[in-house]
Amino acid sequence: MPAASFPLPLCAIYGGTFDPIHYGHLKSVEALAKQVALYQVTIMPNNVPPHRPQPEADSHQRKAMVELAIAGHPLFRLDARELERSTPSYTVETLEQVRGERGMQQPLAFIIGQDSLLSLQRWHRWQSLLDLCHLLVCQRPGYPVSMDTAEQQRWLDSRTTASVDELHAAPAGKIYLAQTPMYDISATAIRRRLEQNLPCDELVPAPVLQFIRQHGLYR
Ligand code: ATP
Repeated sequence: MPAASFPLPLCAIYGGTFDPIHYGHLKSVEALAKQVALYQVTIMPNNVPPHRPQPEADSHQRKAMVELAIAGHPLFRLDARELERSTPSYTVETLEQVRGERGMQQPLAFIIGQDSLLSLQRWHRWQSLLDLCHLLVCQRPGYPVSMDTAEQQRWLDSRTTASVDELHAAPAGKIYLAQTPMYDISATAIRRRLEQNLPCDELVPAPVLQFIRQHGLYR
């Protein structure tokens, strides 16, 4: 008798510096997960983001803050593989590794904010990303909704779908511009506020704030 075949659930990876993780990350992705019925979100903090200044908190501290932020949230899990590397973490290479482990059939998405979509074409081997995953884009206040050039916009339009079913039906290849609520929160602004001893209770989960204080981070 042939084995029963069940569709594989749509899972997502959420990469970033998370210096520190904040509600702009968590609440956007929780809303996104509801909109597109994500089964699981794997948070993957990166080690040496090639195109960005070095993080202020070290790898262990950023990992610990993610662990504290997602404790008790069954949607989220942490994958620390990029933190364990000494070389730059290129998303495309990490996705290739994940595909090597999970196979090519699983519907898999990579989550980014609108700011990251605008700079996506500067990412290492960006043309290969959609062979490996879908892209789910969360709204972010303060960034244009259209791409910088007409050519980039044509690329975006040709890959965008408004259909959640399409995300579940294919392993990769689509871009979904989610209607997530806007959270005017950035890690940079949080670091600056902490330097000035301003409150961040509305911006960062309490256990993460406690960790920041205990370890004297961002002063
Ligand atoms: P920094 O201020 O240090 O640049 P950040 O707040 O942008 O940090 P990152 O860890 O660099 O946070 O971001 C990881 C991912 O989360 C990126 O794809 C980014 O676009 C997205 N993101 C961050 N903050 C928000 C937000 N407030 N709303 C939606 N997406 C966000």
